[in-house]
Amino acid sequence: MVEIRIRKLLKRFQDVLALDHIGLSIHSGELFFLLGPSGCGKTTLLRSIAGFCLPDGGRICFGERDVTRLLPHKRGTGMVFQSYALWPHMTVAQNVAFGLEQQKLPRDEVEKKTGEALEIVQMKDYARRRPNELSGGQQQRVALARALVVRPNCLLLDEPLSNLDAQLRNEMRVEIRKICKENGLTTIYVTHDQKEALSIADRIAVLSKGKVEQVGTPMELYRRPKNTFVANFIGETNLLEGVVLRSHAEGIMVRTQVGSFSGVLSNRDRVPTAGTKIQVSIRPEVLRLDLYPSEDNCIEGHIETATYFGEIAHYQFEKNGISLKISELNPQHFESFQQKMVYAYASPEDVVILSD
Ligand code: ADP
Ligand code: MG
Repeated sequence: MVEIRIRKLLKRFQDVLALDHIGLSIHSGELFFLLGPSGCGKTTLLRSIAGFCLPDGGRICFGERDVTRLLPHKRGTGMVFQSYALWPHMTVAQNVAFGLEQQKLPRDEVEKKTGEALEIVQMKDYARRRPNELSGGQQQRVALARALVVRPNCLLLDEPLSNLDAQLRNEMRVEIRKICKENGLTTIYVTHDQKEALSIADRIAVLSKGKVEQVGTPMELYRRPKNTFVANFIGETNLLEGVVLRSHAEGIMVRTQVGSFSGVLSNRDRVPTAGTKIQVSIRPEVLRLDLYPSEDNCIEGHIETATYFGEIAHYQFEKNGISLKISELNPQHFESFQQKMVYAYASPEDVVILSD
């Protein structure tokens, strides 16, 4: 279990800057996610940590040890690839034991450790089967056992659930978290699926075009996105252009195209002065509809479209030619909101002033 520090990591492929001065610190025992759209550099970063990709600049340290130029098998990492990469001609047990045999461990130790790794992923009963006799989820467990069997310093997972159907994905992600936590593993998990990241991560780094946009816990990223990229990429949101009317330590007052709001700054290090143009993020579920106005943070408009789904309703709220998405859980007054002048209210702590 090791702390991983990455400093100014740089990797160029011809004219593409795949890693653009990446800096990250991953705590010992943490389940850390790299989240971002396809092509943002997630796999390149993971492969650099594993040693399969040699960076053009920067450093990677495991604890005090600089591993930037160390060969992959000397780093003590365990990696699970998107495609599982199981050997089809070997049994489950042989696939898992392979890494240990490479280390030339005595046979009884290989058997014992292989058994333990299969036990962790609940695949002991399948030890004699071949990969083509297993379901996708079972193959995925074997790939995980193969990474765990060498008792890695850190576990590296590259989109490990992307070949599974939705329900199995949900089950497996909870299980992966349990395995990581029970074994105290430092884990770096790559995905483009924000739900996967939000639901099980300790912390997440959001990447875009080879750069780190923001690092935080799931709640920090969702509730306090720093910029429009993070606000848009994680969850759904309404982005509004605005101008700062007043700002002070606690909060900030802005005028947008649909009305004025008190809000909070996502980046308190940079307090914009009155007159500064800013972007405002308001999530659909924080807007509350009412037939009557409340005193502050309330705008008047009308409902353009309304869709009822039982547990939730989605509305399109219009004001000054701008449309806002609003979603309402347990929609008891759905019928009274349709086609009418209504009011939408957002609590100041849910109105987020972005720093771009
Ligand atoms: P992700 O895993 O986030 O989808 P990658 O790390 O695979 O992204 O790729 C980042 C960028 O680097 C992409 O533009 C990709 O085309 C490029 N890239 C990755 N590997 C190579 C390679 N071996 N040769 C050339 N370009 C590459
Ligand atoms: Mg990838």
